[in-house]
Amino acid sequence: MERYNIIKEKNPREIVLLRGTGCIYKKCAFCDYYYDKCDNEEENFNLNRQVLKKVRGIYKNLEVINSGSVFELDKNTLSLIKSVCGSKGISTIHFESHFLYKNRIERLRKDFGDFDLKLKLGLETFDYGFREKILKKGINERSPEKISESFDEADFLFGITGQNADTMKRDMELGLKYFERICVNIMCENSSKIKPDENVISEFMNLIYPIYRDDKRVDILIKNTDFGVGG
Ligand code: SF4
Repeated sequence: MERYNIIKEKNPREIVLLRGTGCIYKKCAFCDYYYDKCDNEEENFNLNRQVLKKVRGIYKNLEVINSGSVFELDKNTLSLIKSVCGSKGISTIHFESHFLYKNRIERLRKDFGDFDLKLKLGLETFDYGFREKILKKGINERSPEKISESFDEADFLFGITGQNADTMKRDMELGLKYFERICVNIMCENSSKIKPDENVISEFMNLIYPIYRDDKRVDILIKNTDFGVGG
């Protein structure tokens, strides 16, 4: 599995896919990638150390993902991220977190006080009913202000039956209003019960994609390996 890549377009950065003890939530109806985990923190650290050796600091910007939340990475890995970023002159670090951990984010920001931390939330949509009844995301909050309070960036998931151009446009507009940057993931076939809806994906490609394709605040992943990691 590819665990390191360089993203050259839009907000250039290096990206690493590390391994933690696994997503504590595991209930999102569309997800099957939380299998990249290991209960043994020492083994995780050994793997993560090899991956972090590749980081060069070329853009002073590093995105760290781990098929779950940053809080599932072991302490040694977190320390190593800090020291690698310090020694390579990296000033911005992106981490992901589920909403369940929102009360731990302030502490994390303090802990990484020498860096500009960007916390990314897997939000998927602002539509509360769709998000919680269909996607089962586990974000028990309706207010965009409260949802975005602790986070700087968000992931959205499009291409599922029940969505249409209007719902996706609304998510894009609210996403750009409440977050610094957003990342759109198009639903890909996986082992979960949720399947990609080709009509919804066509609506996105024809009506939404052309508007945001060149927007520097928007990443769009047509395939979930488009950042060059995972698979
Ligand atoms: S999408 Fe994220 S939070 Fe949801 S089950 Fe998968 S890894 Fe866990």
